[in-house]
Amino acid sequence: MLVVMQANATQEQVRAVCRKIESLGLRAHSVEGAQRTAVGITGNRGEVNSSAFETMSGVQEVIRVSKPYKLVSREVKPENTIVRFAGSDATFGGTELGIIAGPCSVESREQAFAVAECVAREGVRFFRGGAFKPRTSPYSFQGLGKEGLLILAEVRKQFGLLIVTEAMDEFSLELVEEHADMIQVGSRNMQNFSLLKRVGQTRKPVLLKRGMSATLEEFLMAAEYVLSEGNTQVVLCERGVRTFADHTRNTLDLSVVPAAQRASHLPIIVDPSHGTGKRDKVTPLSRAAVAVGCDGLIIEVHCDPERALSDGVQSLYPEQFSELMAQVRSIAGVVGRTAPAATAQLPLSATPATVL
Ligand code: PEP
Ligand code: MN
Repeated sequence: MLVVMQANATQEQVRAVCRKIESLGLRAHSVEGAQRTAVGITGNRGEVNSSAFETMSGVQEVIRVSKPYKLVSREVKPENTIVRFAGSDATFGGTELGIIAGPCSVESREQAFAVAECVAREGVRFFRGGAFKPRTSPYSFQGLGKEGLLILAEVRKQFGLLIVTEAMDEFSLELVEEHADMIQVGSRNMQNFSLLKRVGQTRKPVLLKRGMSATLEEFLMAAEYVLSEGNTQVVLCERGVRTFADHTRNTLDLSVVPAAQRASHLPIIVDPSHGTGKRDKVTPLSRAAVAVGCDGLIIEVHCDPERALSDGVQSLYPEQFSELMAQVRSIAGVVGRTAPAATAQLPLSATPATVL
């Protein structure tokens, strides 16, 4: 249920509604919109008596939220959510596309720095790289763990890039929360409800990847877990789903972008690297993703993909990434968006001489 406040309702009237909700043993989620504040109610097992709220001062109306997901729905918050980062003007869900690029895994300081340099030259604001890797085989490279996170922290310092990396479980979450700017929840964990709840208790933005056979409703319910714990800074990520098609690793479901945007106020980005699994398909699908109206992209890039320890076949060479960005910039303009501009000058601390 949603208690919609009048446009001119005071903070005190909103607080009174929250107190009333809590006095009934329920949870209040105040959602500030451009026009009005609304207070979502969760934690109820049955129907909540709406008349208790309708008569309170400052309340405009009480509406039932028809969808199973509440806090992520547009019914509760009509305006788009813009995900922001402390100490940075980079966003997801604003006019500028949020582009995340970097290797699948952090393999060494040299490897991460080399990729970061070419990503930074393209004006990209976010660097990806897994330190904890969910691999199908226990014998495949599992990531450098904490050492990888420390390398990522150095990349942030050197290049001014915001760090996006995966937390695989509650143990790695503690470390990722400490060292990263954005916590990635991988496809395989989209329905790891205890992890989602813990991620919801952090105050770092979250990149939530769609499960490989998740419906849109299941995807949004996973995001609801995070919001229900108080963390509203969630970016959805389409990364392909399992189908009978075997010409690509997964089938990139671009139609989920407008569907998610209709149902939810959360930004949604696209991962054409895992979505296709093949280097030559990454740029065409990036173009399509921007054209369909996504809020950003996450792209795997490697300077020596033939020798990458994970996902080399889908990783772009730096020159291919530069070409992708050039194409994305022109398509972004057609759909009323902008993309980061390439920079001739790297941040002072990021001169190649300091790159080992
Ligand atoms: C990744 O981003 O490297 C990854 C493992 O992605 P996904 O969870 O989508 O498979
Ligand atoms: Mn990968």
